[in-house]
Amino acid sequence: MQQSVKQSSILRLAVPVPLRRLFDYLPPAGVDPSRLAPGQRFWVPFGGRKLVAVLVDVVSESSLTQLKPALEQIDREPLFDRRSREFLHWAADYYQAPVGEIYAAALPAALRKGRPADHWAEQWLQLTVEGKGLPESALARAPKQQALLQLLLQRGRQSRTQLKAQGHTGTIVRALQERGLVEWVAGPTVPPPLPAAEPAPPPELNQEQQQVLAAIGTDSFSATLLEGTTGSGKTEVYLRLMERVLTQGRQALLLVPEIGLTPQTLRRIAARFPDRSIAALHSGLAEGERAQAWLSAAAGQADIVIGTRSAILTPLPRLGAVIVDEEHDGSFKQQDGVRYSARDLAVVLGRNAGVPVLLGTATPSLESLHNALSGRYQHLRIRQRAGNARPPQISLVPTLGQPLKEGFAPQVLRHIGDTLARGEQALVFINRRGFAPALACDDCGWLADCPHCSSKLTMHRRQRQLRCHHCDYRRPLVDSCPQCHSRSISALGGGTERSEELLARRFAGFPVIRIDRDTTSSKQALDNLLAPARDGKPCLLLGTQMLAKGHHLPRVTLVVIQDADGGLFSADFRAAERTGQLLEQVAGRAGRGDLPGRVLVQSRYPEHPLLQLLLEKGYGAFARQLLRDRAVAQLPPLRAMALVRAECEEPRWAEEFLQAAREYMQSLAPPSPELQYLGPVPALLERKSGRFRFYVQVTAEKRAQLQPLLAHLCQWAEGSRNRRLRWAVDMDAQELS
Ligand code: ADP
Ligand code: ZN
Ligand code: ZN
Repeated sequence: MQQSVKQSSILRLAVPVPLRRLFDYLPPAGVDPSRLAPGQRFWVPFGGRKLVAVLVDVVSESSLTQLKPALEQIDREPLFDRRSREFLHWAADYYQAPVGEIYAAALPAALRKGRPADHWAEQWLQLTVEGKGLPESALARAPKQQALLQLLLQRGRQSRTQLKAQGHTGTIVRALQERGLVEWVAGPTVPPPLPAAEPAPPPELNQEQQQVLAAIGTDSFSATLLEGTTGSGKTEVYLRLMERVLTQGRQALLLVPEIGLTPQTLRRIAARFPDRSIAALHSGLAEGERAQAWLSAAAGQADIVIGTRSAILTPLPRLGAVIVDEEHDGSFKQQDGVRYSARDLAVVLGRNAGVPVLLGTATPSLESLHNALSGRYQHLRIRQRAGNARPPQISLVPTLGQPLKEGFAPQVLRHIGDTLARGEQALVFINRRGFAPALACDDCGWLADCPHCSSKLTMHRRQRQLRCHHCDYRRPLVDSCPQCHSRSISALGGGTERSEELLARRFAGFPVIRIDRDTTSSKQALDNLLAPARDGKPCLLLGTQMLAKGHHLPRVTLVVIQDADGGLFSADFRAAERTGQLLEQVAGRAGRGDLPGRVLVQSRYPEHPLLQLLLEKGYGAFARQLLRDRAVAQLPPLRAMALVRAECEEPRWAEEFLQAAREYMQSLAPPSPELQYLGPVPALLERKSGRFRFYVQVTAEKRAQLQPLLAHLCQWAEGSRNRRLRWAVDMDAQELS
């Protein structure tokens, strides 16, 4: 008979490998069992490698017959508190992800690589139990000591640096120490300070803003969709909610989309809370800075945590509220690895912690709108723009049969000229970067394709390159056809670079600022590029969707949408929703200050009913119509949907794997009106980076029908070992590409 291992302490660890289970190890030699606590990291041997794993549990029996010892204990204090661990395990279950991978996704790179946390530690002064029990009136005869005590009561622990900055001397600290009221402990350093904008007095809230704040409690869980027009003062509402949470001595978490975390946003928040500790978690930080910010959040030291998607996985022991800005943004869904939605997890986290969750946007995702309309979320609205700003006037410009100049109708160019001449700013939105999305031979019809993807190469004229926007393949621009050697080749269609050339020539006296991924390699670059626009001088901004968000430019009075048609005819059922959001957001850049705004939307199909609805009735009515359409088509959010994806250099293998996966699932749960299967079908981008991609789509009336099925599928798929095939389960998939 096989013997299982019994021992007083066995470590049950989450190891970052793509297997959906935990792994048992013996404690490293010489480790005191009383110092073991879930949430600590360990170095462990794994298949000839050395990995950083997180302790989930200490048990006394393992089903294995032989256990290896872990190599080394990294942390003395746990990095993840209990609530955070439970949350991560919940997420791993829900998204069918390996637990080890979700812990790895939660950790910043430096800690993932095993750097010790005390590298970023310093000394902190905190109240002892006796200190916390003192009445307010204590120490009335020693005012300096009382002041320090008050500070610690209100703000929690203070670092040596902070104490010094506020004039609390060592003598005062020692006096309190001798009374047994305070003690020094090691803790993470404060996050690097943020540059703040000029502090300005907060505006007086208008009635709608006040009503919103009144409707959001702070003492229990609630989920609220705040649907507020662009420029209606949602950010002001977030700031007030944060303030309330901070005065309760709790932490506020603000999630923003990838392009939303601009220096401008950070400055605005830093200016409002100058004496608070703010941790910004974003990819622009150096590894060490990011670890430091993360540790201060996880230790409960940072009062405000602002971050993109992965910030939702950070432990926040004093959490008081979660705010998701631009909740509709696609960047909240992770598209590889653990495919979680930070927006959806925000609601789960809020429920676990018993705190309010606020999802704000001008253009709700259909998921959140459905939750709000069905009463699952509280639905609050702000209809007025804040301050003196009025809604912009929107008109359609038909382009079929018009003498277009590089894609612009004559009257549109005239409007741009007039705007600049009046000393105001214009913004032109173009949804493609580069010079042209395709290059073709006029004689034989050759098209420049990506050798690795099923897509065309985009021409980048200034760099004299052809580039693939899916896999980043690059090759030099050709000036003759590689097939027939004709010298007559044409750039088809237009992108930001092409429009920039035309507009810079046409409006030579004014700065033309192009904002897209090619001109803004760093966050700072975007900020610098926008500086002239913020100064309020007449200028012309043109760019991709990077321009749609986060920027408050009060002197932009004209917005031009060069082509509204792209998303109206896509095979992706979410394309119309995304187009509507984008158009409304871009349009919302017009007239955010005292000057009235105007929006010109070019379209080949101005009669298209969805476009008409969007422009006449606004995004709200448009989105409600889309929801009705989704109900008829039995699509999310009215049904739950997951994709089982597979990709392989050999397309047949991916298809066969998925066919078998579908049959396996059907053997467990046959198709029925409640549960439907589709596929395997090729992804919208069928080939990417040399691999062919397919998926099987499973839709169900309820999530509960999907979960156990997918869990079984993962067990089944882990058993099939074709090393060249990659597979994944994408719960609540957002992209069919
Ligand atoms: P949103 O986040 O909805 O786009 P913001 O909060 O950025 O809107 O507000 C837009 C502008 O209006 C900002 O300049 C902001 O300072 C200002 N603002 C917000 N609330 C008020 C108010 N109650 N009174 C006056 N101005 C306000
Ligand atoms: Zn040719
Ligand atoms: Zn490619």
